[in-house]
Amino acid sequence: MVEISDTPTAPGSTPFGKDRLVQGIIEPEEVRILAVDATATAFEAEYRHLSGRCSAEIVADLCAGAALLGADLKNDERLSFQARLSGPIGGFLCEIDRDLNFRGSTHKKTVPDLDAESGRIADAMGSGSLQVLRSTAATIVYQGITTMEAGSVAADFERHLSESQQVASALLLRHTYDRQLVSAQGLLLQALPSATESAFERVTMEIRRRADALDAWPRDPEALLATVCAGFGLRTLGTRDVRFRCRCSRERVVDMLRGMGPPEDGSGWPEVSRVGCAFCGDVFEVPPSELV
Ligand SMILES: [Zn+2]
Repeated sequence: MVEISDTPTAPGSTPFGKDRLVQGIIEPEEVRILAVDATATAFEAEYRHLSGRCSAEIVADLCAGAALLGADLKNDERLSFQARLSGPIGGFLCEIDRDLNFRGSTHKKTVPDLDAESGRIADAMGSGSLQVLRSTAATIVYQGITTMEAGSVAADFERHLSESQQVASALLLRHTYDRQLVSAQGLLLQALPSATESAFERVTMEIRRRADALDAWPRDPEALLATVCAGFGLRTLGTRDVRFRCRCSRERVVDMLRGMGPPEDGSGWPEVSRVGCAFCGDVFEVPPSELV
């Protein structure tokens, strides 16, 4: 249990420090491996959206999964994930950019019947579809739709990877929850072009076995890699920061409202136009004087 003070923690300053993603290569099997600790990012998402247990746990996996899948974005590319789900959580929307800035949440923030117990994520999610969009400000680089059927972000993101990239991949996500999120972490393994199918399967099976056997994953992604890759030839390639950061701003909201124009019933702008950001939960209140 992590010590949390009684006073609410402000967004941007979580008790979990900085999140990091570490990349490495397992040699000679030629398997790319990435480890991420996205705990502070996931905690900020939970805090900002006042999420109940199911929403917080789903977003924990989204943070870690999106950071791992977004690690190879280039220039101003962004990767967005939008799911429509049959379960009471309704779906989710999240985005990661080239600098590993994450933003997003589930549609419903609380599902009281399910939030009261542990292990109800699959029931909260149900099944549905996942749209993955890789884009720049100017163009769509890739767009794919896959089914969401496993009730697990890891399994559904892994299916998306194998369908879209045609590269053998394994995605492992782990989070812990104790009245609030305590950890959000992940591992991604991908076969490099020179890897053989049998070598990839052997490495993946062993690392999955070791990761599953650990009661708690080390929070430090380097320590996590060292633990699950012990005995393999691991070469680490570098570390990057991961964080929660949204692109919304008052200026964009004002521009959007001006673009929409006042209500069509002729009543003019309301005393206050209130616009909430679905990605970060910020609410902007705009008086009519700013809209002329
Ligand atoms: Zn926002």
